[in-house]
Amino acid sequence: MGGTGGIAEMSVTQSEALAALHRVFGYEAFRGEQEAVVEHVVAGGDAVVLMPTGGGKSLCYQIPSLVRPGTGVVVSPLIALMQDQVDALRALGVRAGFMNSTQDFDERRVVEAEFLAGELDLLYLAPERLRLESTLDLLSRGKISLFAIDEAHCVSQWGHDFRPDYLALSLLGERWPDVPRIALTATATRATHQEITERLNMPSARHFVASFDRPNIQYRIVPKADPKKQLLSFLRQEHAGDAGIVYCLSRNSVEKTAEFLSRNGIEAVPYHAGLDAGTRAAHQSRFLREDGLVVVATIAFGMGIDKPDVRFVAHLDLPKSVEGYYQETGRAGRDGLPSTAWMAYGLNDVIQQRKLIQSGEGDEAFRRRAQAHLDSMLALCETVQCRRGQLLAYFGQDPDPAGCGNCDTCLTPPETWDGTIAAQKVLSTVVRLQRERGQKFGAVQIIDILLGKRTGKVIQFDHDQLSVFGIGDDLTEGEWRGVIRQLLAQGLLAVEGEYGTLVLTDASGTVLRREREVPLRKEPKKPVTSRSGASSASSGSGRGERKARTAAAELPEELVPAFEALRAWRAEQAREQGVPAYVIFHDATLREIATVWPTSVAELGGISGVGEKKLATYGEGVLEVLASLTGPPGPAPASGSAPASGPAEAQSPGQDADGPDDWPEMAEEPEPDWI
Ligand code: ADP
Ligand code: ZN
Repeated sequence: MGGTGGIAEMSVTQSEALAALHRVFGYEAFRGEQEAVVEHVVAGGDAVVLMPTGGGKSLCYQIPSLVRPGTGVVVSPLIALMQDQVDALRALGVRAGFMNSTQDFDERRVVEAEFLAGELDLLYLAPERLRLESTLDLLSRGKISLFAIDEAHCVSQWGHDFRPDYLALSLLGERWPDVPRIALTATATRATHQEITERLNMPSARHFVASFDRPNIQYRIVPKADPKKQLLSFLRQEHAGDAGIVYCLSRNSVEKTAEFLSRNGIEAVPYHAGLDAGTRAAHQSRFLREDGLVVVATIAFGMGIDKPDVRFVAHLDLPKSVEGYYQETGRAGRDGLPSTAWMAYGLNDVIQQRKLIQSGEGDEAFRRRAQAHLDSMLALCETVQCRRGQLLAYFGQDPDPAGCGNCDTCLTPPETWDGTIAAQKVLSTVVRLQRERGQKFGAVQIIDILLGKRTGKVIQFDHDQLSVFGIGDDLTEGEWRGVIRQLLAQGLLAVEGEYGTLVLTDASGTVLRREREVPLRKEPKKPVTSRSGASSASSGSGRGERKARTAAAELPEELVPAFEALRAWRAEQAREQGVPAYVIFHDATLREIATVWPTSVAELGGISGVGEKKLATYGEGVLEVLASLTGPPGPAPASGSAPASGPAEAQSPGQDADGPDDWPEMAEEPEPDWI
């Protein structure tokens, strides 16, 4: 039974599983929970698996499918990705197939025949196909080793990925009581977890919860000034030539941002639900196949994208929840190499989102939920503690109390200041307007009043006559925006109505009556723009070598030519076969090849990610690439020789995106009005 079973019995399973891991995937060892999950499922148990994106969920069902007799049936909502998934498996020598609506009748017949003949290790199906009686009938005529339900959070009616067809999957257990089921998701909240278990009818499943930490992802949240320009300099300085995803809230800003990047020499394509299916598929396919393409997208993009070398995920708008944010950022760095999750966040984000919730549909309970989600997200943005720590704690896991050392707050700890008086000034202004004039205004007018600016609108409303006029000239406009943003985030101020006017909350009184202090995060004069400020000399951004800078990052300089040559060879192979480059070999594998510099097929076979089939297919080719180079460098120095560029030159000339008083994001905002 579960837990630690008979050792002799298990060891057969274990060694078979391990053998498949070595032979097919070329990997040394299981990671984290994989081993326990594989063991449990191979032995016939049901499992619910929670692992972060990039945690290695696929092996949890792929290996049992290889070890157990019969075909592993994988239910996945990602029709557009099935072909790639199956191609990747076939490249490993796994007998895989899929059935979905993109196939014609003949193609499907071939797969059906293979399944019935017991010639498939894995069969991928869309849920809407699985529920058809004809499919169920087909399945019952063959031998099934297990059911894997991928993206299992799609059963959750509350999530934005809900697929009604997933609800029908509860019948699998009744129809095939002896076939183990494994449900997998990267959504970690307890509520979703429970919903999966209930709705899929898996009461006796064992639960496996992996660590949600993604140590190779550097989390950074910067104050928003001129977001597109900030994004551009982030990409130029740190991710030139890298593949990545930029998330925006609206279709319109997706289009504009993609255009802006393209105009500035960064190849970028848009993706959102307003584009026709053909364009979406084409853009997704380019992202998977080409090296270094940027996709600018709404949240419609990304689920199931298993491209391992996504080097950055950028957010130009505040995500609605920490779950969403973590899923999206988790798409970076599945290959374990250094990657960045970068977000620009400002006052308007808070106002917009608060407004959205208020004016949105849904009942009071729904609104309260949305509000709570937003509050957690805001707390993450405003924290002065380790971001990773905050994220892990959110998912109920224990962070390292000493901090992670790989997020912006760990790398350059933010300063706090006593914002009590500043908060009082803002709140009194709001009170004065309301009590003395019966007026409500948005942030712009409040700040103009505090700064004592005689703008047209200030004069129009005689606001220069208020006693608070000009009491805030000790702070800059940017700093006032920071104060208001943080008051909103802390619930000491609220947003109301269509124009986003500022109003007091129940908690405001405690500040006005001096019953509490208001510690605030200092607005950096210069937003942290690159790693140069953080991790010292390693990133030499001033230099001309752009392509693959990050992919090659931390690779000793003398190995870069070999890595580049291998990448070029890989690109050629991928093009010839019409598959994504990572289907040939992952970056991580090419790096190891460049480092080890194998001289024989046997030696190459020892490298992680080189299984039997890949060795047979590409072994000679790889060795030829290496042989064509001048040979392995001598003993490598302990670390890459630091390029002679100091942090000072990291900012490229004319890229001054950081004027703290220049907040052009306001330009798109309707002028706030009083009601
Ligand atoms: P998930 O589905 O959880 O997002 P994947 O299954 O795509 O994650 O795995 C993420 C990456 O890690 C893939 O590139 C995969 O090849 C790699 N990987 C998974 N397990 C191992 C392992 N035991 N050893 C080495 N690499 C692994
Ligand atoms: Zn940290």
